[in-house]
Amino acid sequence: MSPDVIVVGGGVVGASIAYQLAKRGATVTVIDRGEDPGPATLASAGLLVPVAEGARQGPMFELGRESLRLFDALASELRERTGVDVGYRRSGLIQVALNEAEVGRLRLRRSWDERAGISVTWMDRDRAQEVEPALGSTCQAALFSADAHQVDAPSLADACLVAAVSLGATVHRGATVDSLLIEGDRVAGVRCGLDETRAPEVVLANGAWAGSWSESLECRLPIRPVRGQIVSLRSDHLLPRNIIFNENGYLVRKHDGNIYVGATEEEVGFDSRPTLDGAAGLLQLALRLAPGLSQAAFHTMRVGLRPATPDRLPVIGRLSGWTGVSVATGHFRNGVLLAPITGEIIADLIGYGRPRISIDAFDPARFLVRAA
Ligand SMILES: Cc1cc2nc3c(=O)[nH]c(=O)nc-3n(C[C@H](O)[C@H](O)[C@H](O)COP(=O)(O)OP(=O)(O)OC[C@H]3O[C@@H](n4cnc5c(N)ncnc54)[C@H](O)[C@@H]3O)c2cc1C
Repeated sequence: MSPDVIVVGGGVVGASIAYQLAKRGATVTVIDRGEDPGPATLASAGLLVPVAEGARQGPMFELGRESLRLFDALASELRERTGVDVGYRRSGLIQVALNEAEVGRLRLRRSWDERAGISVTWMDRDRAQEVEPALGSTCQAALFSADAHQVDAPSLADACLVAAVSLGATVHRGATVDSLLIEGDRVAGVRCGLDETRAPEVVLANGAWAGSWSESLECRLPIRPVRGQIVSLRSDHLLPRNIIFNENGYLVRKHDGNIYVGATEEEVGFDSRPTLDGAAGLLQLALRLAPGLSQAAFHTMRVGLRPATPDRLPVIGRLSGWTGVSVATGHFRNGVLLAPITGEIIADLIGYGRPRISIDAFDPARFLVRAA
């Protein structure tokens, strides 16, 4: 039997969409190629901090804020349905300046935050070290916020897929969608090798690889991969209490006890290999922020390809000029934060024709130049 919806990609975005669609009663098939090469979700640090990522207003900030509001209920719901703890936790966020230039920029962030009504506290080094004993004497000043959150991104994606399956969805892992089934102006399904799966709706949620459909859809989907490397450490004696954030990266202790140091941002195409340079830069940053980590054990290194767009905004919505196809990608550095709201938006669009919040700024139409 054909599903109602095929979701291409089972990263955190596709998984969230599948879950929301299944909750609304749709029969869903998720097709995901698997772990190689570098899905972004498996490398993600899972920080849910729209504030530390820049803008304090505008559609992206609002989308992040709206998505963050959904996490509490979503985490409990997923735990009830699947027994999985997705590692959703509240923790402090301490933004650290390591030199005079960074102090200047941190002051600017403070005034943006205060104007946006976000509660932050400015701290000198002594006060910052009281609040976060892992910080070293390199800290010149800090900005503290008690209200940050984090989640375990792979667990969130897995839990959404398990919950979707419990509601009747099917997940094909290790299967690659090679092409779309196109009939006139309609996307009627997908092709994996010799197999065809038909459905009235197809959602393209395959992260950094979503641009590969541009030619068959006769349009430009300018999604490009931006490599992110992240290392994890194990430390018995020094455990950061807060998320430690700096202009050049961050340190975060996750619910499994590992300390993640992230992340590089590299324009190297679809190369998802870890590099010595990447590891060295991250480890140096870790030692500058928290010198006491020098005896921590090196645990793992992960690499993911973030889906990026030219305007740094995600692409969420129906593809104009076509029937039966929606896009949800381009979430770049915030895909985990934005996964819950993206799931709801796409499920609303497919189920009811319009989402509950405005998505004009994320409309794929801003990039579409359909070939004549
Ligand atoms: C190092 C690092 C740290 C990050 N930290 C954070 C953070 O702290 N907070 C945050 O919010 N975000 C963070 N991000 C960004 C976030 O991880 C991404 O925005 C998000 O994971 C994107 O999810 P996605 O589902 O769109 O893509 P992906 O996770 O890449 O999933 C896409 C899936 O589609 C599959 N696929 C591709 N092509 C096909 C095909 N043809 N057929 C079938 N399947 C296919 C892939 O195998 C993959 O599984 C980070 C990213 C990196 C790399």
